[in-house]
Amino acid sequence: MPTNSPQAVSVPPVSAPPVAPQPALSAPQRALRKLGLVRDIDLALHLPLRYEDETRIAPISGLRDGSVAQVQGTVREARVETRSRRQLLVVLDDGSGGELTLRLLHFYPSNQKTLAVGAVIRARGEVRVGFFGREMVHPVFKAVAPDAPLPQALTPVYPASAQLPQAYLRKAVASGLARAHLGELLPEGTVPAGLPPLREALLALHQPAAGTPLETLEDHSHPAWQRLKFDELLAQQLSQAQAQAARALLRAPAMMPCVGGLRESFHAALPFLLTAAQQRVVAEIDADLAHPRPMHRLLQGDVGSGKTVVAALAATTAMDAGWQCALMAPTEILAEQHFRKLIGWLEPLGVGIAWLMGSRKGKARQAMVARVASGEAQLVVGTHAVIQDDVVFARLGLAIVDEQHRFGVAQRLALRAKLDEQRLEPHLLMMSATPIPRTLAMSYYADLDVSTIDELPPGRTPIVTKLFADGRRADVVARIRQEVTAPVQPRRQVYWVCPLVEESEHLDLQNATATHAELAAALGPGVQVGLLHGRMKAAEKAAVMAQFSGGQLQVLVATTVIEVGVDVPNASLMVIEHAERFGLAQLHQLRGRVGRGAAASACVLLYTTPLSATGKARLKAMAETNDGFEIARRDLDIRGPGEFMGARQSGDALLRFADLNEDSVLLQQARALAPRLLREHPQAASQHVARWLGSKSDYLKA
Ligand code: ADP
Ligand code: MG
Repeated sequence: MPTNSPQAVSVPPVSAPPVAPQPALSAPQRALRKLGLVRDIDLALHLPLRYEDETRIAPISGLRDGSVAQVQGTVREARVETRSRRQLLVVLDDGSGGELTLRLLHFYPSNQKTLAVGAVIRARGEVRVGFFGREMVHPVFKAVAPDAPLPQALTPVYPASAQLPQAYLRKAVASGLARAHLGELLPEGTVPAGLPPLREALLALHQPAAGTPLETLEDHSHPAWQRLKFDELLAQQLSQAQAQAARALLRAPAMMPCVGGLRESFHAALPFLLTAAQQRVVAEIDADLAHPRPMHRLLQGDVGSGKTVVAALAATTAMDAGWQCALMAPTEILAEQHFRKLIGWLEPLGVGIAWLMGSRKGKARQAMVARVASGEAQLVVGTHAVIQDDVVFARLGLAIVDEQHRFGVAQRLALRAKLDEQRLEPHLLMMSATPIPRTLAMSYYADLDVSTIDELPPGRTPIVTKLFADGRRADVVARIRQEVTAPVQPRRQVYWVCPLVEESEHLDLQNATATHAELAAALGPGVQVGLLHGRMKAAEKAAVMAQFSGGQLQVLVATTVIEVGVDVPNASLMVIEHAERFGLAQLHQLRGRVGRGAAASACVLLYTTPLSATGKARLKAMAETNDGFEIARRDLDIRGPGEFMGARQSGDALLRFADLNEDSVLLQQARALAPRLLREHPQAASQHVARWLGSKSDYLKA
């Protein structure tokens, strides 16, 4: 934890554990490392995906089409056929009254040698029963002595990778399992009743005894699996509780509201009243800021729920107390767009502001950095550039991160490492429009308090979402014309969002340019169509956005650079092309760009058939609800928690085995045990965390 480092310390590389110089590793060894299989215990905790049953021999005469079986028989005939395609055909006879042909389309002379007439062969594979009788194509086989014993345990199949052959991995896991310390760390009476000791559970999973019902192993309901999931959940809960306890020891500036300060003038100047939900979260944040321990709070609220003004109120409190405030957004256009309003509110009140963006370099940047270091800049606004090593704050008291899920864990840790002179940690407020369902928030963010704005400002009309197959593009263009030529002042405006082309910025651009030309031609000279894409320079983007917000452009064709935070209340129609290519959260974010004013707004999702099942489910969810929390729940259903949170978020897939939805009983048990263990058996708790998380536990603190 960055508690006592000197002020200008460089940020430690938290994104990956430090790797000591290694002797050259073989390809499989490197592959093991890549899978995080470094320590013996890592190997022991690398659990099988499924099993192969090699403990039994099936009689050939009883083999059924499509079944997977192991047989043993004597080679009666072996020949290379060349008529259609060169292949090796081997006929096995096991005396059961049936024959089985092994068919090898690729083979080596050594295979022919093994499969010589008279050899006894044990083969395993999928059975096909066809015109030529029973056969197996490319079975796994070996020559055996007629009375060779059968394995006593099922054969595990592990998650492997291309560079890591299953046989190598099996050996590595078996030796890791033999060497690892698997003694029980958890004191008597703490593991839920009915779950086996860890060693027993691991042996049962890696080497299940013949006859173990495969279903309970493969659907993870077996008590051995339950034990592993419980231990994993416990490690996660413990490490979060540790992070929480560590934070309780940290100091942060206590910021009290003051009379006659910025906060009061700002509040008085606001052109609207705060909603009840806004007032509630403001009070929660105020209470945190008044405490001399760092706030670590997530402010979640649907798109358009008014998080910015809440952030501004917190910022004024910090500045009133004499501290600097940093405001970060994931991209320049967002920082510009999103904070422009906030700055428009605060600058007239005399607040000193510094902008730090990646695109501002050289002298301009140095000047800004100097203003931050001197404390002249009370409010520091920007992108990742805010957490560069050379940025040193005079008195950073509060850091606000917008759309926090778009920042990496390492970046959030770095922000917390920006210490001020008195070795205090800044308060941290993270904002997100992608609400995290409650169970997930609890388990992924035990060290995070959550405030929720669950109400939109008054006067919004709900957005109507319509699905259109791509063939009806002409109808959609007609609808746009109708919107932008409606006889109202100011004129209505339209967003057209172009699809993501995976891994090709070039195609993205081509597509956006073509659509821009198509719309400009179709809508005629009376309608101004602008274009915004990722390849443009920050200044160009800002200029186009300014024209759109100013109403000089009626239609804006854009790639997803407008995804979050852009606020043009007059935009009342959004068209999203190839909507099936977007994620649900992203679609919801995009849709939130309209419906920000009083005009009735619509969102058209253009899609191309055929739709995948998940694509269909996403579009259906979009058409059925506008509620960000409901969308998040459906997204979770569609994708599952691991993917929902993303590797970045969850810190390298911290939960490999447990599923927060399915294993809620185990989760509750782990949550109940964690504080008790920390209190009564702190050493066992630390050892348990180390066993499970090794060096990964840092991720949980961010
Ligand atoms: P988001 O939560 O998506 O960041 P914003 O903070 O951008 O939402 O707010 C959306 C719009 O609503 C802005 O134009 C903002 O000024 C306005 N707004 C915020 N709070 C209120 C309120 N209480 N009453 C009316 N309008 C509000
Ligand atoms: Mg916002």
